[in-house]
Amino acid sequence: MTVEVILATRNPHKLREVREILAGTAFSVVSTDELDASLPDIVEDSDTFRGNADKKARTLAAHFGRVAIADDSGLEVDALDGAPGVWSARFAGVDGHGADEANNDRLLRDLADVADAQRTARYRCSLAIVTPDGRSAYSDGTCEGRIGHERVGAGGFGYDPLFRVGGDPAGRTMAEYSPSEKNAISHRGVALQRLLPMLQELCG
Ligand code: IMP
Repeated sequence: MTVEVILATRNPHKLREVREILAGTAFSVVSTDELDASLPDIVEDSDTFRGNADKKARTLAAHFGRVAIADDSGLEVDALDGAPGVWSARFAGVDGHGADEANNDRLLRDLADVADAQRTARYRCSLAIVTPDGRSAYSDGTCEGRIGHERVGAGGFGYDPLFRVGGDPAGRTMAEYSPSEKNAISHRGVALQRLLPMLQELCG
């Protein structure tokens, strides 16, 4: 039997990846929209990934009276002093449909004059788990890479077609990775593997 916890996200890609990573474990997730699609968005107003993840998980754990986990994640580009960071989802000022395309266009524009050696970047993911009685635990994961000059690949989401995974001898972008390859090395996969023992402790 699996223990079902709430995943505080409206991002279908995050939901899919978290479900793939948790497959075969003692845990499964139900999304906010599957429980109540009329809930307003939770404003992400922290300047840290962990602060936003904590706020999202805490809000839903209190609202539903159930254990909630939240993922706040994004891309940090060294040549842009860590931008887009916590603003990754709305880097180009576009919300919802078309945001990924606009964000990638802006990233290519901002890095137009930056040489390969300076195009280092990383994905970062912070996960928070909060119980209805306010106990909490956190984990983080990173994945190092480099920003390419053009989109390559059709998998993943967000910045994946521009994100050349560091250490990949074939020099592939994250969008060229299969789902299982991505989940094995991604910021989200690493953070979730680290969160599992804490989930066990808080839900056990
Ligand atoms: P959040 O919903 O505020 O956590 O925003 C996350 C944003 O970061 C997404 O909309 C993407 O732009 C970016 N992002 C996070 N994780 C990934 C990933 O695994 N691949 C590509 N982009 C990602």
